[in-house]
Amino acid sequence: MIPVAFDYEKVHTIDEAIAALSNDDTKILAGGHSLIPAMKLRLSRPEKLIDIGGITALKDIKEEDGEIVIGAAATHADILYHPLIRTHLPFFTEGAAMIGDMQVRNHGTIGGSLAHADPAADWPAMVLAADATIEMQGPNGRRSIKATEFFTGLFSTALEPNELITAIRIAMPPDGTKSTYQKFAQPASRFSLAACAVMRFPDGGTTIAFTGVADHAFRDTGAEHVISGKPIDDDSIEKAMQAALQMVDVLSDHYASEAYRKHLAKVYLRKALLAVKG
Ligand SMILES: Cc1cc2nc3c(=O)[nH]c(=O)nc-3n(C[C@H](O)[C@H](O)[C@H](O)COP(=O)(O)OP(=O)(O)OC[C@H]3O[C@@H](n4cnc5c(N)ncnc54)[C@H](O)[C@@H]3O)c2cc1C
Repeated sequence: MIPVAFDYEKVHTIDEAIAALSNDDTKILAGGHSLIPAMKLRLSRPEKLIDIGGITALKDIKEEDGEIVIGAAATHADILYHPLIRTHLPFFTEGAAMIGDMQVRNHGTIGGSLAHADPAADWPAMVLAADATIEMQGPNGRRSIKATEFFTGLFSTALEPNELITAIRIAMPPDGTKSTYQKFAQPASRFSLAACAVMRFPDGGTTIAFTGVADHAFRDTGAEHVISGKPIDDDSIEKAMQAALQMVDVLSDHYASEAYRKHLAKVYLRKALLAVKG
């Protein structure tokens, strides 16, 4: 459980981080709560770690041009306790409180969670349901990508190895928007065995995303289509549950069989829809 020897550099600006990332065997270190365990197991063997914990600009949570902007190095706890988030994205507050334990929440970052793309991580489902945009910066400049295009597979994303996630942007939800994050947690790790994030807008538009269920988090457009614009009642919930999970291969592992995970996901979709019912 000892990592291969590595170099370490702490940077204080985004430009310093990008310059330091030019070497392919270099990795960003944020909270270290996914990377360090992987290095201890020797699943990851970077030659050098670039610690972004000193870049204060990456920790900002603010409102800008009608959007909520969350810096990539904001910790789960920073998001959990931020009044802007509590007011406008209450399901981020709800979801952040369910991540790991206090130590994990105080160190782990939203950017690290998205970049790591664990199939059972919580932020991917929440940023998908929020229809977030993920901002990145690398040697070729800045770019942004919708969360729906970011997660590409098991632990894989659209992020290039020498790119840094800088922020997550979410359009300010209109007044009257409801949202929820409902999670069935693996009892030891607290990771999701199945979890569902839902946003319900005043016009009835509904976004639904799952994590823990397939090899990466995903928006369930089948279930969204059934429930959007319709009243939430027993009939529409039943139809949404039937329509859900049609477009993914549901995971089966030693924690939960495919059938059990499917059942859990649908039950948690039902709980989520009841929670945002008008
Ligand atoms: C005991 C335990 C319980 C946990 N429980 C949960 C849970 O219930 N739910 C959950 O979702 N997660 C859980 N986690 C994971 C935790 O949330 C991690 O902190 C998180 O997944 C990774 O964030 P980090 O800041 O620690 O990233 P790091 O471990 O520092 O980095 C992870 C990866 O992301 C890359 N990276 C980091 N930041 C950036 C960036 N800004 N741009 C580009 N790449 C970047 C790194 O190079 C590395 O490859 C748990 C972890 C532990 C140890």
